[in-house]
Amino acid sequence: MVRIGVLALQGGVREHVEMLEDLGAEVTLLRRAAELASLDGVVIPGGESSTIDRLMRIFSLDDALRTALHHGTPVLGTCAGLITLATEIVDPAPGQRSLGIIPMRVRRNAFGRQVDSAVETIDSAYGQVTAAYIRAPEVVAVGEGVRVIATKGERIVGVETDSALAVSFHPELTGDTTIHARFLDKVASSA
Ligand code: GLN
Repeated sequence: MVRIGVLALQGGVREHVEMLEDLGAEVTLLRRAAELASLDGVVIPGGESSTIDRLMRIFSLDDALRTALHHGTPVLGTCAGLITLATEIVDPAPGQRSLGIIPMRVRRNAFGRQVDSAVETIDSAYGQVTAAYIRAPEVVAVGEGVRVIATKGERIVGVETDSALAVSFHPELTGDTTIHARFLDKVASSA
């Protein structure tokens, strides 16, 4: 059984925990750097990326998490989690930093009012996914080693590297397990 830590500083933690448990993972809440050593994978949930950033630093979790993820611990980031994983945020909140794990440029709150909160079915590399958008970010450019796995029209809303998976939307809110199942496959193959 794989052991997944859901970063539980702020945001939509519970839905990720439930979905991962339904898929057979052992799930713990990640709040302290010392807990990282026992994990096979990490989820960074949606919420507010500038708040997650601030709390990671207050809890002295940012450096340890950055190091673990750079060394290949698999990670899934959704919405604010995707922003947190990026190397570059076009429009950060004042003082906001990111972990710099996935070479990509992201723009926060990139979708207009109409889709501020919307549920729709999109194509992904893993088949159709029912995606919920809540003030979702857009990936405006990707670097080397980053595969685009989901698009909404022309716009990039899902990316993957050898160890990381990140989506602009909230797969944990729709009951669609496609993205989480793919993440657990990555964890299993890297364990
Ligand atoms: N707009 C939020 C941010 O900048 C992300 C929204 C979300 O995670 N649902 O972090």
